[in-house]
Order: sequence, then structure tokens, then C-alpha cells
Amino acid sequence: MSMQRTLSIIKPDGVSRGLIGEVVKRLEASDISIVAMKMVHLTQAQAEGFYAVHRERPFFESLTKFMTSGPVVVMVLQGEDVIARYRNLMGATNYEEAAEGTIRRDFATDIEKNVVHGSDAPETAAFEIGYFFNQLEIMS
Ligand code: ATP
Ligand code: MG
Repeated sequence: MSMQRTLSIIKPDGVSRGLIGEVVKRLEASDISIVAMKMVHLTQAQAEGFYAVHRERPFFESLTKFMTSGPVVVMVLQGEDVIARYRNLMGATNYEEAAEGTIRRDFATDIEKNVVHGSDAPETAAFEIGYFFNQLEIMS
């Protein structure tokens, strides 16, 4: 185990459905520290840059359109093993396969509109955090 940071996004469906508080409540209840937070409305180019690893996937265009459909809340989370711990809180990508009590199982409505994003590895976390935040915006 090691101290890690990860990027969390409350996606446009989560923001528009009033789930910001619910997600933050679950983070705090799990002893996951929020060390940066802001709301942004991504442009198409910004969403495409963020999801560049998925450029060849059939769902890329739909995903980037969805991610620009309204504001999102972006957070940097910090803690021991936080990348995996936060992904466990989120649940599987497909909410129908997500474990009971996870955010996606409880709130997602669609494989795409799955309320939250979380980085999947230390390298992607570093890229994704740097995409949204500079050093001065992250609590040390
Ligand atoms: P995220 O990266 O958002 O945390 P994830 O790592 O669980 O989710 P990825 O495989 O990275 O899933 O896919 C990124 C996002 O693309 C998913 O969260 C979902 O919104 C969308 N997505 C993934 N697979 C599909 C699919 N088969 N059809 C439509 N949308 C999909
Ligand atoms: Mg992913």
C-alpha cells in the first residue's frame, strides 16, 4: 500500500440529478480526503483530450458529447491505496454488473451515464490530475 492521488469526476448526469452531495458524503464516510475540487463545463476539444485513450472506441463520440452536456465536478482524492478504494466505491463500469451499495449500482442509469469517473492507475491519475489542476490548486 502507498499514499496515492486519483482524479474523480462527478459526470454531467450526477451533477444535473443532484448527486454531488451524495458522492461527497460517500467519500467522506470512507475516509477519503478531497485535496482539490472545482466545477467546470468541458468543451468538446477538452473532453476529447481527456478521453484520448478511448479515441478508437466505438463509444468515443457519444462519451465526449455526454461529458460536455453540462458541468462536471472534478476532485483530487488522496489516501492510502485511494485509486482502488475509490474504484470500489464507484463500482463496475456497467452498473448492472456493479456490486450492491456502490455509487454506480445505486445511481447509474446507463453504461455511459454512470455518474462518476475515477482514474484506473497511478500513471493515468498523474495525467488526469494534471489535466485539470496545477500544483497551487492541490492541498499539500
Ligand atoms: P471511467 O474511466 O469513467 O472512470 P471506467 O474506467 O469504469 O470509467 P472506461 O472503460 O474507462 O470505464 O470507459 C470510460 C467511460 O466510457 C465509462 O465510464 C462510460 O461512461 C463510457 N463507456 C464505457 N464503455 C462503454 C460502452 N460499451 N458503451 C458506452 N459507453 C461506454
Ligand atoms: Mg476509465
